[in-house]
Amino acid sequence: MANPSEKIRRFTNLIGGRAVPSVSGDWLESVDPATREVWALIPASNAEDVDNAVAAARGAFNGPWRGFSAAQRAALLRRMAILVSERALEFAEIETRDNGRVISETTGGDLPAIIEMLNYWAGAADKIHGETVSVSPNSVNYTLREPVGVVGIIVPWNSPLAIFIAKAGAALAAGNTVVVKPPETASCSILAMAELFAEAGFPDGVLNVLSGLGQAAGDAIAGHPDINKISFTGSTATAQAITRRSADAIKPLSFELGGKSANIIFADADLDAAAIGATTMSVFTGGAGQVCIAGSRILVQRPIYDEMIERMCTIARGVRLGDPMDRTTQMGPIAFDKQFEKVAAYLDIGRREGAEVIVGGGIGAAALPAGSPFANGYFIQPTLFAGANNQMRICREEIFGPVGCVIPFDEAEEAIEIANDSVYGLACGVWTNSLKRAHRLAAAINVGAVWINTYRRIHWAVPFGGVKASGYGRDSGMESMRGYQQTKSVWVDLA
Ligand code: NAD
Repeated sequence: MANPSEKIRRFTNLIGGRAVPSVSGDWLESVDPATREVWALIPASNAEDVDNAVAAARGAFNGPWRGFSAAQRAALLRRMAILVSERALEFAEIETRDNGRVISETTGGDLPAIIEMLNYWAGAADKIHGETVSVSPNSVNYTLREPVGVVGIIVPWNSPLAIFIAKAGAALAAGNTVVVKPPETASCSILAMAELFAEAGFPDGVLNVLSGLGQAAGDAIAGHPDINKISFTGSTATAQAITRRSADAIKPLSFELGGKSANIIFADADLDAAAIGATTMSVFTGGAGQVCIAGSRILVQRPIYDEMIERMCTIARGVRLGDPMDRTTQMGPIAFDKQFEKVAAYLDIGRREGAEVIVGGGIGAAALPAGSPFANGYFIQPTLFAGANNQMRICREEIFGPVGCVIPFDEAEEAIEIANDSVYGLACGVWTNSLKRAHRLAAAINVGAVWINTYRRIHWAVPFGGVKASGYGRDSGMESMRGYQQTKSVWVDLA
């Protein structure tokens, strides 16, 4: 339901440098998850819009963009960083409004990081080097690192802007053109930022953005024969659908997917730090635990089990839920109706499996102080299950909400076994004061990132991604740029 006193905003696609609605003229509603009110409309794009965007991207790749030197590409990315910094608050507010992640995180975390990412990729653009290879006295061989061409980027709803810039920054620095599909439940921030690329001086068609449903626009990107690579962040099930859909056209894929990460706390750890690291730093976040790297399995060594439960429950009870636009709010709502229902269903599943909710469990109005004006929003209290074991669904399936399962263990070997007993392999936390044990676990746990005595630290210069059902390929760091390049070897006969 729209709030009649407020004007509903309309966002448009950016295709070939033009702000356009979808070809069909259809729109999707964007709902504010804190109130359940429609606040914006976004284009409902489909295969025809994707064809137009790919044609524009191909035209730019074969046309003006080829003529840009690495230094010129860098200058445009630097200009983007300046333009984004001038409107950072506006973009942060749009993101918070659209997906409910608290404003202190979008203004204090995402937007500053996005500006740094743009500068990082500007710095990377002129550091693309091939190699010379010693083959024989009678020949010279050298390699060229070339852009792959048109890159399709598909983004999820929990941190759309940061994921968009992490991928597009690398792709553009490497000399590609891109077609981006934001998530249908939180597209507005990316659609709004897209117009800055034209203002920064990127030629028309170098960056194209279109919103639409996964089954329509996303599917068309996955199957498009003229897209040369797909970079996707989202669920494992969608990655499987994209793999099947893209099979005929043969193109490289990179996938940043879900997780069920273990946060392992040993008895010798700094328990104050570990309690924060297992709660507000990890699964009770400003985005209500909708974090791929959430440490949703909290493994606690038996001698400190009761004490850690008490500490974590105290922190959980103190988390302030409410208006995500209020800077003092610590946790916002779940981003949209289906995800809210999914997380709520897992609270029942856990209870039925025999685990016990020891803190939280309140949903909707029951999650908020009495009389809150946000009682209609998709709120779920920070919730901990105790009495859980690693065979339960709540410990095996990604809930993607503010729900942690506490699992006791005795020895390090048992913790390693439990941590690795998952289809996922995204991240892991290890809390201990033993240097030897920390490094031994870092090597033994099969994931893409390990944090020792900290959690959820990410940086644009550090490769990020998972193994197993958490995906392959890396975002961020120079390794990520390799994913947007192809290597050509050139032979010269000297005989
Ligand atoms: P999702 O897979 O449902 O959607 C992601 C994107 O894929 C959306 O833009 C959607 O429209 C599109 N899509 C859906 N169906 C498609 C199809 N058939 N073909 C092509 N595109 C399609 O994921 P979500 O629910 O938006 O995001 C949550 C998931 O993302 C969680 O599993 C989370 O762990 C994961 N995630 C991972 C990372 C990471 O870096 N590893 C970061 C954030 C989120």
